[in-house]
Amino acid sequence: MNEQKFLDDIDSCLDCKSCLEVCDTFKATNNELQSPNGRLIIAKKVLTNENISEEERFSLYTCTLCSACNLECPQAINIADIVHASKIELVKKNQGPFEIHEKIIKGIVENENSVGGKPEERLDWLPKEYKAIETFEKKESDTLLFFGCMSSFRVKESASAPYKILTHAGYDFKILENEPCCGEYVYSAGKLELAKDMFKNNVELFKKNGIKNIIVTCGGCLYAFDTVYPKYIKDYDIKVRHIVEVVHELVQAGKINLKSIDKTVTYHDPCRLGRKYKNGPSINEPRELLEMCGVEIKNISENPKKGPCCGAGSGIRGVDSNLVIKIGANLFNDIETKEIATSCPLCVFNFRYVNYKNQIDKDSKYITDYILESMEKK
Ligand code: SF4
Ligand code: SF4
Repeated sequence: MNEQKFLDDIDSCLDCKSCLEVCDTFKATNNELQSPNGRLIIAKKVLTNENISEEERFSLYTCTLCSACNLECPQAINIADIVHASKIELVKKNQGPFEIHEKIIKGIVENENSVGGKPEERLDWLPKEYKAIETFEKKESDTLLFFGCMSSFRVKESASAPYKILTHAGYDFKILENEPCCGEYVYSAGKLELAKDMFKNNVELFKKNGIKNIIVTCGGCLYAFDTVYPKYIKDYDIKVRHIVEVVHELVQAGKINLKSIDKTVTYHDPCRLGRKYKNGPSINEPRELLEMCGVEIKNISENPKKGPCCGAGSGIRGVDSNLVIKIGANLFNDIETKEIATSCPLCVFNFRYVNYKNQIDKDSKYITDYILESMEKK
């Protein structure tokens, strides 16, 4: 961590407050402590060993690390990375993360998932006919379809549909019977040493299984494998792609035929795919795929790269669920369609939660639901 660079960047802030306009936690609270600019001031205190108040500590942990502010800043300050670096500092000082994060991290260490799922139920989504033929790690393939906690346990159709689509297209891949957690939750909570151990163990597991390519369904796993792992693993050479990119390629190659399902939906860009993705951002592929399914797309913002966050990133659900509900409600207010499509199971899960809590009549779906429906249409 280059602390001096972070401090220099913080000092370059012009206090123009442009970043406030795009920060969903500020828009939901109107509290400058919960804004990018406010968080930079707190981060400076943390990085220079000044004490911070409980409210300031809370503010660092309610940042979703969505990076919308980074794009707005005329000084090109990487605000999200600075907030994350200050969380790492807080952990070193035994002032972070929160008890709820520790509880979830204990679950990750014991059961390899952040959502309290039972390891023996991880592959419950796998259709029976495939369970009989799936050979897991033993299969000769260097491509891993990786599902992560949310797809495996909470939004299971975002595991089963990608599996069915790739199988139908004759794509060569395998899955792991006992998939590990990618470690993104641990990393974003600031527990860097534990996260690094997880990254190292996972890469060893991938190497042992001959994995050279990973296809992910989740934005968090994408960010971890694509952007974070290369920072900490020497000679990391695994190619990482999101399922949307792979399916897009297969459709263009004529391996998947799509029929019109005639719908109108709003497409939400997950920040880890539409904004933070090192190879991307992947803005056009999901839209083109939906259009090829005969879906008319409505956008939330004029510039999709600057679109809002679902409100659930970086473990803020555990710290302030009311804030998450408010961010989600703000986003729903800007949506005219009943259906919201997105490419991250955490966004789907969060939208369903917000919908339930606010009693709004919206449906949230993972993008491959539309592809599968279109493929299977008679
Ligand atoms: S990363 Fe997102 S939530 Fe955090 S300060 Fe920036 S805009 Fe706000
Ligand atoms: S946009 Fe950048 S320069 Fe302006 S207040 Fe925010 S962090 Fe400072």
